[in-house]
Amino acid sequence: MTPIRKIQTVAAAAVVVLAAAPLAAQNLDNVQIKTVPVTDGVYMLTGQGGNIGLSIGKDGAFLIDDQYAPLTEKIVNAVTALTDEPIRFLVNTHWHGDHTGGNENMGTSGVIIVAHENVRERMSTTQFIEAFQMTAAASPEAALPVITFTDALTFHYNDDVLHVFHVEHAHTDGDAIIHFREANVFHMGDTFFNGMYPFIDVSSGGTIDGMIEAADKVLKLTNRKTKIIPGHGPLGTVKDLRKYRDMLELVRDRIRPMMLAGKYRDAVIAAKPTRDLDKKWGRGFMKPDKWVGIVFDGMMNTVKHPRPDRVPVPGG
Ligand SMILES: [Zn+2]
Repeated sequence: MTPIRKIQTVAAAAVVVLAAAPLAAQNLDNVQIKTVPVTDGVYMLTGQGGNIGLSIGKDGAFLIDDQYAPLTEKIVNAVTALTDEPIRFLVNTHWHGDHTGGNENMGTSGVIIVAHENVRERMSTTQFIEAFQMTAAASPEAALPVITFTDALTFHYNDDVLHVFHVEHAHTDGDAIIHFREANVFHMGDTFFNGMYPFIDVSSGGTIDGMIEAADKVLKLTNRKTKIIPGHGPLGTVKDLRKYRDMLELVRDRIRPMMLAGKYRDAVIAAKPTRDLDKKWGRGFMKPDKWVGIVFDGMMNTVKHPRPDRVPVPGG
């Protein structure tokens, strides 16, 4: 029996539920998995939670992220509709439950789970995401990645070279980006929210500088035909990624000087530094005030925040 046929849905206790939409697993009964063709043998699967990447071919199915545990059966059905080969590998782009919720089901059925070492570490213990005041329980053994890496690793698989590399302190401290070198496709996990303000998990070591660097790293490896699977949002182009990257930089370069001038968090949010961008980018689940607060929080880790009473007053 192949692993794919042995998959059974494990008790819902395994679900690591994040508290805010679209991170939250609500009622998933009506969720349908849609298959979006990316290029020959490469697909994006959408349902609820982070976008899934899929490579199929003679070596087997290769998954990137797995949404929530109750969706495993539907995800597996979507894969079997495309190939008779079993799912052999699963790469997690980071530890969040909307990307790793199916891990226990996959691990139990014999799929080899691979991720950055900080993903295994965070999934092994209780996590607290301050931005949503949300606790995520430690995952059971079967859900944990069995192969971990620090900088990068490469799969020679399905006649492609799948280069998996870490980007530091971006969405979290354990992000992986997957580059299908032959297919000219990337899966950027949550370092890329296509068309909307992203969530940056500051409690897990994320920063806006890291997000910008991640986008720059990918952009250097692209050409105009490259396709990019984002963690959330529709399948993206290089143009989409460039616009998103420039938005991130603009927001950072507005907020950083306010911070260096000694403005407090509340005052920065009240100043609405992203007002002109909100109509385009603030319609996703990260609302503008929350977004500004998160960018500020992330920079607190990287920028010295002088005390307001020490900031020289002009002419004073
Ligand atoms: Zn995430």
